[in-house]
Parts: sequence; structure tokens; C-alpha cells
Amino acid sequence: MQFIDLSAQLAAIRQRIDTRIQQVLDHGAFILGPEVQQLEQALADYTGVPYCVTCANGTDALTLALAALDIGPGDVVFTSAFSFFATAEVIPQAGATPWFVDIEPDSYNLCRDSLEQAIKACLLSSTGRPKAVIAVDLFGCPADYDRIQRLCEQYGLLLIEDAAQGFGGTLNGKKTGNFGQIATTSFFPAKPLGCYGDGGALFCHDQATAEHLLSLRVHGKGRDKYDNVRLGYNSRLDTIQAAVLLEKLAIFDAELVARQHIAKRYQKQLAPAFQIPQPASNMTSSWAQFTIRGQKDRAHYQQGLQKAGIPTAVYYPIPLHQQTALQHYPAQPCPQSELAAQQVFSLPMHPYLTDDEIDCVCTALNALNQ
Ligand SMILES: *Cc1c(COP(=O)(O)O)cnc(C)c1O
Repeated sequence: MQFIDLSAQLAAIRQRIDTRIQQVLDHGAFILGPEVQQLEQALADYTGVPYCVTCANGTDALTLALAALDIGPGDVVFTSAFSFFATAEVIPQAGATPWFVDIEPDSYNLCRDSLEQAIKACLLSSTGRPKAVIAVDLFGCPADYDRIQRLCEQYGLLLIEDAAQGFGGTLNGKKTGNFGQIATTSFFPAKPLGCYGDGGALFCHDQATAEHLLSLRVHGKGRDKYDNVRLGYNSRLDTIQAAVLLEKLAIFDAELVARQHIAKRYQKQLAPAFQIPQPASNMTSSWAQFTIRGQKDRAHYQQGLQKAGIPTAVYYPIPLHQQTALQHYPAQPCPQSELAAQQVFSLPMHPYLTDDEIDCVCTALNALNQ
């Protein structure tokens, strides 16, 4: 059994992918070729966000978002203590200070109350100006943007949605990518919508921000690429990756339906013996991961499953505020992040998982609870 089976997906669309790549080889516009703009339009249409700008990867997308929002030295950016390292790494890279906030124990997403405590503590400290929040759609489920957005407005903070894992999910019928001033995503191969290399994108609601991002991704270009009006980056999506993504986007909704079915089947067999992810009734997850915890030590489950030939993974064993490179930055008490880091593990999750495979995982897991 595969944890994420990219070869099953490729087998289903091989012909169309080959044709798309051939077309790029034939026209030869490897950098910012026509497929890049086609993809940006398709992603804007898909999410319902007016502007999409692609870039080299999901980490760069966050970096470009911080740059476009003019976040830098003297600014404090609040973010979840339980995410992939990149979510936080970009903040000090931009010269700003990260301030870590705890998560909700059931959704693993940013806790609104911990966030408010962090903002208040920051205002009483001399750490810097409270400037922005990066919320993460962890494991595919949107953060609680209804409440987070309101809090950001109350304190005059900018909001960035890190939808690297959540692309395809919804909140109140709106696709992820819609929340905050700028949303970012990643097309790393293992993400819900992945390419065959690195890739990323940003979503925003106004033309000025979109133009700013278009300039930042090509060395701060002005009228043309040899007119540089600001310092920028070299962060473009390769044309070949855009071509691959156009084909993958065409089957993405069908894949989401399959992921939904798989999650339901897992839920039915694993609850209540395991704590299973359960998106709120106004949300849908893109099921980047199916992450659970049980009453016993996770090593017990992982070893037992491994013996049965079932792969698992741990996202993430060390919370961000305890990472060597980040531990000197301010943080709220993060007991839920610390517990999650010790307890959670993720099960095989990809659209080509069969019912038999799911049942096999559940049977093995339930037996390990005896
Ligand atoms: C994968 C990921 C990123 C970074 O994306 P890359 O394309 O690998 O740079 C950022 N944030 C989260 C939450 C991620 O899962």
C-alpha cells in the first residue's frame, strides 16, 4: 500500500500529460509560456478569487505575500505553532518576528482565543508592531476564518491564508484561497493539487496587489524585465509544471470526491475508538492528510501497521516554537500543539485508495486497540 500513490494518478492521465509536455517542448516558451497564464486564469476561475499569480513553490508564495504586504523589520506576525516549518521560516527571513499561537485540539488549526492573547501580550511588550496573521489550513481543513478574520479586523491586522494543504477545501461554500488579503498554496507533488516538481501560487482580490506580485516574482520588474522598480525575487512557475497542472486540475474535483469517500469510510470505522478529523458543518476538507490519534502510544500503532505493510507518517513531530531555529521567538503557551506533536499520525490518503485497502487499515488499527 502507498501512503500517497502518484503513479496510480499518472497511469490515469499519462496520455494527456505527455501531450501537454510535448506541446511545451514544441513551442519552447519554457519560462512564463502561455500555459502559465492559462493556469492562473483556471485557478482564479476555480477558486472564485479574481487574481491568481503562480510562483516557484509554496514557500516562495508566503515570502512574496509578506513582501507584497510590506511586512518586515519591526513587525510581528502571529502564526500557528503546529504547521510545516515553511509557514514560520518566511517570517524572520522577511526581517519580521514570528509569534507562535496554539491550535484547537480537534481541528489542529489556529486557536482564535490563543491568538487574541498573543495580540494583547504583543501590544504590552516591546517586541514589535502586531502586523499580520498567517493562518494555516492544516491537513486540508480550512481554519476558522469567520472568527479569525473578525479578530484581525478588530486589531487592524493583515491576514494571510496558507492553503498549501487546504487547496480544494471550502468554508461557507467558498473555496480556500478566498480568505485574507492574500492566500498562498503549494503544488509540491504530494499536496492535494501537485505538479511534477516545485510550484506555488498566490490569490488576491485586487489588481494592484496582483501587479505587485507579478513584479516581485520577476526581480521587481517595472515596464519590462530590464526596468527594475523594486528589489524582487526569481520565483516563477515553470511552463512545463503549469502544463501538468492544467491536466491535474481537470480531474481535481473528481479526486476530491474520492478523497471525501475515503475520509467517510475511515471515519465510520475508526470513530470513536480514535480521534478522527471531523470538519465543522460549514467546511469541507481537501483531505491532504487523514490524521488521527488513539489512546495508546502512536509508536504502537505505527509499528503494528508497518508489520501489516501499511505506511504511516507523522506530521509534525516537533512544534514550531520548539524547533531549534525558532525557539528563541515569542510564543503563547502551546499545550495543544505539543500534545498533537507527540500523539498524531497520518494514514494513507490519496484518491486512488481502494475500499479494500481502507478496510484493511481500519481492521489493523482496531485490532491494535485490543
Ligand atoms: C508544503 C507546505 C508549504 C511549503 O510549500 P513548498 O511548495 O514545499 O515550498 C507551506 N506551508 C504548508 C502548510 C505546507 O504544507
